[in-house]
Amino acid sequence: MSQSTPYTRFQKNLEDVLSILGASDEVRKIFSEPQNIHKNELTINMDDGSSKSFPAFRVQFNNARGPYKGGIRFHEEADENEVKALAALMAIKTAVVNIPFGGAKGGVQCNPKKLSKNEVQSIARAYVNAFKDNIGPDIDCPAPDVNTNPDIMAWMRDEYEKQTKTFSPHVITGKPLSFGGSLGRGTATAKGGFFILKELADREAHDASELKVVVQGFGNAGAHIAHLLHSDGYTVVAVSDSQGGIYNPDGIDPVRVQKYKQKTGSVTGEYCEGSVCDIDRMSMDGVKTVTNEELLEIDCDILVPAALDNVITEENADRIKARYILELANGPTTPEADVILEKNGVMVIPDVLANAGGVTVSYFEWVQGRSGEQWTADRVDLELQRLILEGYKSVRRTVRRENISYRKAAFVVGISRMIESMKVRGWV
Ligand code: NAD
Repeated sequence: MSQSTPYTRFQKNLEDVLSILGASDEVRKIFSEPQNIHKNELTINMDDGSSKSFPAFRVQFNNARGPYKGGIRFHEEADENEVKALAALMAIKTAVVNIPFGGAKGGVQCNPKKLSKNEVQSIARAYVNAFKDNIGPDIDCPAPDVNTNPDIMAWMRDEYEKQTKTFSPHVITGKPLSFGGSLGRGTATAKGGFFILKELADREAHDASELKVVVQGFGNAGAHIAHLLHSDGYTVVAVSDSQGGIYNPDGIDPVRVQKYKQKTGSVTGEYCEGSVCDIDRMSMDGVKTVTNEELLEIDCDILVPAALDNVITEENADRIKARYILELANGPTTPEADVILEKNGVMVIPDVLANAGGVTVSYFEWVQGRSGEQWTADRVDLELQRLILEGYKSVRRTVRRENISYRKAAFVVGISRMIESMKVRGWV
């Protein structure tokens, strides 16, 4: 097993690209560490009258191109190293889709599933209190990430406005529509990935109906892309969540899966209660249950990791049968796995491009917050498609020109744009 961490995995990808770009020592120094690492302990009152503290982070990687931007995750395993890596990926991502932001990320080490709504709200407000001097509409604009949602963004905006005595809807994005959110934000990450897949399928002259898709993770990113692809004629053959997955080589209806997930909490809910499954019903429907490990190795054309990082590794990369991997999750593939996949001719559309739809629509929300305008859903979709496909085409041109992978090419595009701004600012 490799001893890598999220940040060392980022550095490995970075190092290859800095060499391709012939980066100077000054550039290398700036990219070696985030500009700011803010840490705090959030102490809140629990419902039972006790008080409890949670480690919290805000890492600001680079703001050469604009205010820092990046989500906040609430997760037991969120730590400084992970948040640093995610902040760095955000800086590259905003540059790849050419929106005027830098990159940041936040995290609170907690398990919101074990907290009441009241306790989650207290953490959200405590986070803003702890970092209120480090964030702001023109400084650093947070957003949702794993286990954070529009309600949490609304509490955070409210707390920021209270603390600063300002009206600042654009301090944070991913808010509810009724409290300064944007149409289309909920589906933006999946839609961005969907637009890329459609463009790719068109160019390679694939018909959607002949493409089989596997999706790992059935949350915001995964469920939405499963719906979009199914509606467009692709065959979604397997989906999963933290409890496991279901596989049907003839295709699964994500709407049905969603209905059962809502009812039972799991994508396997139509067939299983916990670990007990109705084998007869499954065999009648041609359905099998699969573990998350098995799911990644299913025979398919497109694999969409949309849950966790570090799931495609040197251990399983050789057994991946998909021809295309669309990384809606952040950091699902290790650098060692990338080498194996490249050798096997698997095309990986990397996270910094594939899941950039979320931050792109966050940018539209920020613009709307600044101007007081409300964009229509059609305008959001059209602008998202334009920016994500421009990013994709810049990356594809770089792939061809340099004869490198899509991940390296996306890093080349993003980092070159960051260096251009750093030069103007006299940093390098
Ligand atoms: P989410 O919390 O809405 O959904 C996560 C899904 O993953 C859930 O279905 C959960 O059950 C599943 N999951 C958890 N552990 C799993 C495991 N061990 N195996 C398989 N599935 C598991 O989160 P999300 O917003 O959809 O984010 C998913 C990934 O996409 C993360 O890496 C996130 O950083 C990335 N991402 C999300 C957005 C966004 O706008 N939501 C934007 C960019 C990147």
